[in-house]
Amino acid sequence: MKENQFETDAIRTQAERSQHREHSVPLYLTSSFTYDSAEQMRSVFADEEEGFIYSRFNNPNFSEFVDKMCKLEGAEAGYATATGMAAVYAGFAALLSAGDHIVSCRSIFGSTHTVLTKILPRFGITTTYVDVDDYEGWEKAIQPNTKMIFVETPSNPGLDVIDMEFVGKLAEKHGIIFHVDNCFATPYLQRPIDFGAHLVSHSGTKWLDGQGRVMGGILVGDKKLIDAVYTFCRSTGPAISPFNAWILSKSLETLAVRMDRHCDNALKLANCLEHHPELDNVRYPGLMSHPHYKVAQKQMKKGGGLITFEVKGGMERGKKFLDALLMCSLTANLGDSRTIVTHPASTTHAKLTEEERQAVSISAGLVRVSVGLENIADIISDIEQALAKSS
Ligand SMILES: *Cc1c(COP(=O)(O)O)cnc(C)c1O
Repeated sequence: MKENQFETDAIRTQAERSQHREHSVPLYLTSSFTYDSAEQMRSVFADEEEGFIYSRFNNPNFSEFVDKMCKLEGAEAGYATATGMAAVYAGFAALLSAGDHIVSCRSIFGSTHTVLTKILPRFGITTTYVDVDDYEGWEKAIQPNTKMIFVETPSNPGLDVIDMEFVGKLAEKHGIIFHVDNCFATPYLQRPIDFGAHLVSHSGTKWLDGQGRVMGGILVGDKKLIDAVYTFCRSTGPAISPFNAWILSKSLETLAVRMDRHCDNALKLANCLEHHPELDNVRYPGLMSHPHYKVAQKQMKKGGGLITFEVKGGMERGKKFLDALLMCSLTANLGDSRTIVTHPASTTHAKLTEEERQAVSISAGLVRVSVGLENIADIISDIEQALAKSS
């Protein structure tokens, strides 16, 4: 049979139906599963026969979400976790040992930075950061004990775009696992495996759910790597709940249409703000002025749903601008149907010194907008009136 297109797989990948022949997949809220005989139970436990055992290992809702994400990412296998960070962490902890080394892009999500710099070193795993534009730096950073290259693209909150084809070739040349956090793009906008990634992590909490309802995460990739992830997770227990897996699988049915609209709205907003007199450095991977525009064009279908800019006037102006918004939400999440505006310097990155913030390109006036699905005219007018009121 011919292979289905993305939208079709996102809708038609479904768990087996029960005797009720339900159209929409039911929610399997059960901690364990039963067997007809001791012999059948033995063979399922021994992996000789397919079957579910215990929802910490997997569950029909878990499997549907995983199977669907594997199809969408072009991956062999996957494992779904309670949060995005559980997935990112399992990707390190299941595959690396004391004495191993990671090469990572410098601009990454705050909690991932904490894992790499505070948690993994306690277990003898160290990391070297490379700046996004330092192409020679990637190879220079590789040591004899480097086992993984980690990149987040586009990055949170800097919106740096990393050339996955370039990094993928380097990983192949040196026989290193290439792990990509694909949270900002989703498989609809880019498929890291097509560029040489062996492991892809996601926060389901963001665009995959897309409605700010549940936490979740997933790792997909080469079967051999995911087998190790499964062994690690089966015993350490970060599995996603059946309810959240059910929600996320349902959400994926609409991922393509949602992402198209998020991206179209974001491009319109970016075009409108690019030359605004009250703003500097309007950054959007779909704008020709973005420093990595060409790379984004090569590996992404569209520019994504996030924009950053700097309001003139630094920290105080940044906070005043947020206070003046009438519709956009002030909240920590992103990837929601509602437009969300955040000011990293006074919130998520408030504990960093000015110097540390500069190292990851977070200026005092930086604002991040997760562009929602409201009518774009209303989003633009809320941001424009808040800029006028706060000047
Ligand atoms: C939010 C986020 C995560 C973590 O996901 P949670 O579901 O919040 O644990 C990881 N990576 C990126 C890029 C994120 O934006």
